[in-house]
Amino acid sequence: MAEQVRVVVMQAGLGPLDYAMPAGQSLEAGQAVLVPLGPRQIMGVVWDGLEGPAFTGKGLRAVAGVLPLPLVPEPLRRLCDWVADYYLASLAGVLRMVLPSVAALGERQIVEYRLSGTQPPRLTPERSKALAALEGRAGTVRDLARAADVSEAVIRGLVNVGVLAAETVPAGQLPAPPDPDFAPPALEPAQADAARALTEAVAAGGFAPFLLEGVTGSGKTEVYAEAIAAALRAGGQALVLLPEIALTAAFTARLAARFGSPPVAWHSDLKTSERRAAYAAIADGRARLVVGARSALFLPFKDLRLTIVDEAHETSFKQEDGVHYHARDVAVMRAQFEGATVVLASATPAIETRVQAERGTYRHLLLPARFGGAAMPDISAVDLRKTPPVRGRWIAPPLAAAISETLARAEQALLFLHRRGHAPLTLCRARGEKINCPNCTAWMVEHRLPRRLACHHCGHEMTVPPACPSCGEPDTLVACGPGVERIAEEVAATWGAARIALVTSDTITSPARAAALVAAVEGREIDILIGTQLVTKGFHFPELTLVGVIDADLGLSGGDLRASERTFAQIAQVAGRAGRSAKPGRVLLQTHQPEARLMQALIHGDAAAFYAHETATRRDLTLPPFGRLAALIVSSEKEPEARAAAQALAEAAPARTGLQVLGPAPAPLAMLRGRHRFRLLVTARRTVPLSAILRDWLVRVPLGNSVRVVVDVDPYSFM
Ligand code: ADP
Ligand code: ZN
Repeated sequence: MAEQVRVVVMQAGLGPLDYAMPAGQSLEAGQAVLVPLGPRQIMGVVWDGLEGPAFTGKGLRAVAGVLPLPLVPEPLRRLCDWVADYYLASLAGVLRMVLPSVAALGERQIVEYRLSGTQPPRLTPERSKALAALEGRAGTVRDLARAADVSEAVIRGLVNVGVLAAETVPAGQLPAPPDPDFAPPALEPAQADAARALTEAVAAGGFAPFLLEGVTGSGKTEVYAEAIAAALRAGGQALVLLPEIALTAAFTARLAARFGSPPVAWHSDLKTSERRAAYAAIADGRARLVVGARSALFLPFKDLRLTIVDEAHETSFKQEDGVHYHARDVAVMRAQFEGATVVLASATPAIETRVQAERGTYRHLLLPARFGGAAMPDISAVDLRKTPPVRGRWIAPPLAAAISETLARAEQALLFLHRRGHAPLTLCRARGEKINCPNCTAWMVEHRLPRRLACHHCGHEMTVPPACPSCGEPDTLVACGPGVERIAEEVAATWGAARIALVTSDTITSPARAAALVAAVEGREIDILIGTQLVTKGFHFPELTLVGVIDADLGLSGGDLRASERTFAQIAQVAGRAGRSAKPGRVLLQTHQPEARLMQALIHGDAAAFYAHETATRRDLTLPPFGRLAALIVSSEKEPEARAAAQALAEAAPARTGLQVLGPAPAPLAMLRGRHRFRLLVTARRTVPLSAILRDWLVRVPLGNSVRVVVDVDPYSFM
């Protein structure tokens, strides 16, 4: 028996398999190995604690080789088990997040390429684009293709003609270790109390979850930095999760100033050599402080003492493809398996998190005031019914006046609209036809930089047609409604001398660009920032004193259970960018319903009343966190097959008290990327073992080959 191991093979659809130990070796759980499967060899990880009788038949094959990768440590193995079980994912699918692009990880040396100075014999548009983007860069073929946004074939072509020259590089450099005592700030009393609670928990060890709730500008970062210092002093590692990688540059600089050395970064924009160096150092414990995207949660930390989830209310912590997990919740589970401290930091904690704090599951730390005596911004409504903007414009007179005043004082303004592009909808004036995506139930969004129509769901793009595609009339297409690009045009037309920065995922495409933006705003090279939700996050600009919310009603139309909570948090966060320093801040909300509960709560700074009402509603309706939800999305390129499968699932639905299956119904996004979609929604009491019931249900129903079922446990998207 003992010379036999169970291996989770990295192949979708296959469960764990048993193998014989290789001759003369014994393998530990967590070891990455190569195993034979049919005529091939595939990768797997030796696993422990899996149920099921051992293979006793003849023909047990042996593990073919041991891969030179760090062991997946015990707490991380248990986390993988939990994630696979709770989110109904395969262990292989979860392990793929633990061992990302493994091929590169084992090698000691990497071949990178950089511009050699040779001119290419033939210059195509793609090659010119690559040459411009690769100035001063080095990386693997894949790194460079990503950096220049061209295909790998273009890069390989440039290698073949000698424009890119090869060099062999060792794994990337690691920054010097952080020093917990490098530059600790003097904390204010409320900050010091919160910091003490955290440092004591870190020093004591053991599972300790916290909610660190502090108004915008209260110094949450300074407070949890003390917890990081405690983890470093104890000889352990700390991880800070950020919702958006675009933020990492500014944030990294802050931590570097506090600890004398930058943290190790982990996100999808790393070069192969950087990724490999970070991975190895995280596994052997040399990387002491790591800042990362949600994928960092699955790294094989040697001794993770502390995890911070910054801006923990952000819904972008929810992963919506592959394994559908919520990084906030997985962070708490990982801390539980590690026996470590976890801190959810936010000015607007999610109701799920607030309720955990009320129940006493999480310790609640509060920073009620801004640092340095700065006042909270003054928030008021601009009633669009009384003072509308002139036709074809979106900035109403009171907001325009405030912008002019701000510019006259040489201060900075921020205009927020949660909508990328130029116009959300293009309409035919003759017949009212809308231009839709051919692959999705969605409008094509007009962009002007560069000019095109784009689908924000599948990425489909087309040029703006000269005539209406349905009626054929020329010059009838009109752009309806504003996106941020259109607001930028209006601002440029009205305040010609103002220096404008547009901040969206179309313009801030890398941490380097985010850093350049932050430097420009801090250096007062920008007068007016115009942005999507990207500008609501984390920025601290002392001269920014005016925030204008172009359409405060926008987020409310979605109608899902978190719509008002999300809108409240988003507006509170963007409002929190105003007046963070000596100069007072002012916030204007353009709305058609200033009397609505949400607007009133924002205007009067009464978050408590708003959350109490929302929480009571959730409790009455047994919605999360008072009940459980799971969504099943059934899709196929063939509409009848998707419909039939959804129907079959509904007919086989588990009958059980405390559990209800709603649907199927066509999804609001009835077609996505060419697939027809139906949804079922499962609601359950908190005591119902939802994952087990779902798993049992899904294996009982045979589905057509073309049909795919995605299970979304604790869903955030209801599209
Ligand atoms: P939050 O994340 O809570 O919105 P920050 O951590 O960004 O707030 O803090 C707001 C500003 O106040 C930052 O510039 C920060 O450096 C500064 N700050 C907060 N606490 C202190 C302190 N104790 N000493 C010096 N500066 C502080
Ligand atoms: Zn589309």
